[in-house]
Amino acid sequence: MVTRKPVTDAPIKRKSAAQMALEKLGLRTPFDLALHVPMRYEDETRVHWLAQAPVGEPVQIEGVVTHCDVSFRPRRQLVVQLRGDTPEAATAGSGENAVCTLRFFSFYPNHQKALAVGNRVRVRGELRGGFFGLEMVHPTIKSIDAALSTALTPVYHSTAGLPQAYLRKAVVSGCQRADLSETLPESALADLVPLGIPPQWTLAAALQFLHHPAPDVSLQALEDRAHPAWSRLKAEELLAQQLSQMQARLERDAMRAPALTDHVWADWLRAALPFSLTGAQQRVAEEITADLARPVPMHRLLQGDVGSGKTVVAALAACNAMSAGWQCALMAPTEILAQQHFVKLVQWLEPLLAQHGKCVAWLTGSQKKRERADMLARVASGEAALVVGTHALIQETVHFQKLGLVVIDEQHRFGVAQRLSLRRKLMQMTDGQPLSPHLLMMTATPIPRTLAMSYYADLDVSTIDELPPGRTPIVTRVVPAERRGELVTRIREQTQAGRQVYWVCPLIEESEALDLRHATQAHEELCAALADIAEVGLMHGRLPAAQKQAVMDAFIAGDIRVLVSTTVIEVGVDVPNASLMVIEHAERFGLSQLHQLRGRVGRGSVASACVLLYESPLGDVAKARLRAMAQTNDGFALSRIDLELRGPGEFLGARQSGAALLRFADLAQDDALLAWARGCAAQMLATQPVAAARHLQRWMGGKVEFLKA
Ligand code: ADP
Ligand code: MG
Repeated sequence: MVTRKPVTDAPIKRKSAAQMALEKLGLRTPFDLALHVPMRYEDETRVHWLAQAPVGEPVQIEGVVTHCDVSFRPRRQLVVQLRGDTPEAATAGSGENAVCTLRFFSFYPNHQKALAVGNRVRVRGELRGGFFGLEMVHPTIKSIDAALSTALTPVYHSTAGLPQAYLRKAVVSGCQRADLSETLPESALADLVPLGIPPQWTLAAALQFLHHPAPDVSLQALEDRAHPAWSRLKAEELLAQQLSQMQARLERDAMRAPALTDHVWADWLRAALPFSLTGAQQRVAEEITADLARPVPMHRLLQGDVGSGKTVVAALAACNAMSAGWQCALMAPTEILAQQHFVKLVQWLEPLLAQHGKCVAWLTGSQKKRERADMLARVASGEAALVVGTHALIQETVHFQKLGLVVIDEQHRFGVAQRLSLRRKLMQMTDGQPLSPHLLMMTATPIPRTLAMSYYADLDVSTIDELPPGRTPIVTRVVPAERRGELVTRIREQTQAGRQVYWVCPLIEESEALDLRHATQAHEELCAALADIAEVGLMHGRLPAAQKQAVMDAFIAGDIRVLVSTTVIEVGVDVPNASLMVIEHAERFGLSQLHQLRGRVGRGSVASACVLLYESPLGDVAKARLRAMAQTNDGFALSRIDLELRGPGEFLGARQSGAALLRFADLAQDDALLAWARGCAAQMLATQPVAAARHLQRWMGGKVEFLKA
């Protein structure tokens, strides 16, 4: 039998390799290309006289070839001697350094032809001063008759298969085809003048300039992004960001949510708690209560340092939803944390829920099928008034009967992309429901003010700035790994006094296997050293869920005294009897991670300590991080330092999603422009919605949704 290829009518369009490379760089539209500004420039506007050419810089020189030969020492190469020769040279007579050696390690017959003895040539490359005089390795050979450039030559960030020449042409064409007409209102343009952006710097002029700057411009100003052309780009970008945030807020304000005004359950919980709320907890609980009472979806971020008591605030919010007959979902980034919340919430709320024939459900990825089906049924019927779990909560198969409130704990642990997908899922899950759920996000990584004003501009923020009473501050010590042995004595003391200890091992180069080996080894060592006095447990991500839970339960019960763990215990874990935290290879952790880990101790009234073991030599950033940890317990202060050390992209968890947040503006420096953008965005949305939409579309296109997450 003969098989034939299926015939289709559709013409097959193949993309060229260069086109695919452009797409790989994210350059799809003319505007993308126009915004692809050079990473540096080369000066091809002049030819240097060899005798006066600056050494160590890329230059163009001209000269006559006096020698051209293939040499085999130290390796095969084409060696050319060039005698500097320009009009200046002719008038001044040749100088001392007027001879330059050109070396080519890979070459073709064409090279030899172009560089034949007696030829006059123009070459471009970096001039180096070596033992044998001036040299250029692999210079570009240029035509001697070519007209000199009138502008600096842009060099673009590129990728394999995309030559600069192709990219330059694509950018020029992009700039011609893109719509770069003015979107900013007159008054906003006027407000830019005192910020160093005169009116002639339109977007079009700024881009034209950045792609082809005049030869007399200060390269320094371009490099420092201090030129008005740069400022204009930053202003445009920040404006787009603010517009998208404000737009998101307007859209949300137009949505409807259940007004949750019944406080009976919350009052019950308050009375039943074994402690009374701190003033700060009281205040944020009131802010949340006020939000929930409005028929508009809440979108609030609750920030509070580790141990400040956010969980109980979430529980009170859940009560407000449940007493009005709505369900609440609480999502945590790890199974251990979700499990802890589940236990705590059951403990607090079970008596109340039982009275009303309701329960707390539990959903994770590792659940048995039967158990999961059972939980799903309870969620769908509404019997589960509260559902606690990991991101398994937002899978398609989960149907809520009446979802009124979603709480996301440790929201900074969910990447930007995950937060977006979460929002989308929430929308889908509540599709048939005319009312959207309220959203409460919690984080122990406080967001610095500039970031709050930019990326989180559409969120309301509540802050718990007070720890529950009776905590003693944690003492932090930075100790070289060589002194690891001494710690065993410390651990003995603590366990003999009835306290508990965490010993945390790091993630080694993202390799779970190595990670595990390290933790296992530390576990064996400690078991041997402490065999006579204490039970040492081991916890890591690869343990089956049931075993994880068994280990955690034993630690909470105090049967395990020392817990060796990988970072799975990083967030939220709450064992007030733990008083010593040892972190191995502390230099490999980020600042917020160290602070989170340290927050596992100091939760009771006993004096607690954190020991940061490091391996020498320490890099500058690691040194700064460890020093900051030793100096302060204040999560806000650490968060500011973290932002300075890492920059906003990584800080916000955008690196995981691979998306750049701000390409041009720098929040650490451009706060004046950010303030301008906020004012301008508000004004445009109110009075020039069409121009605002045009600006947003141009700058964000399909990416708007991403920034709203
Ligand atoms: P985090 O803000 O880090 O999530 P938790 O909610 O886990 O903190 O609370 C830390 C510990 O403090 C828990 O054991 C919790 O029960 C306890 N706690 C919370 N609020 C108070 C309070 N007002 N007084 C005393 N203990 C409290
Ligand atoms: Mg917590």
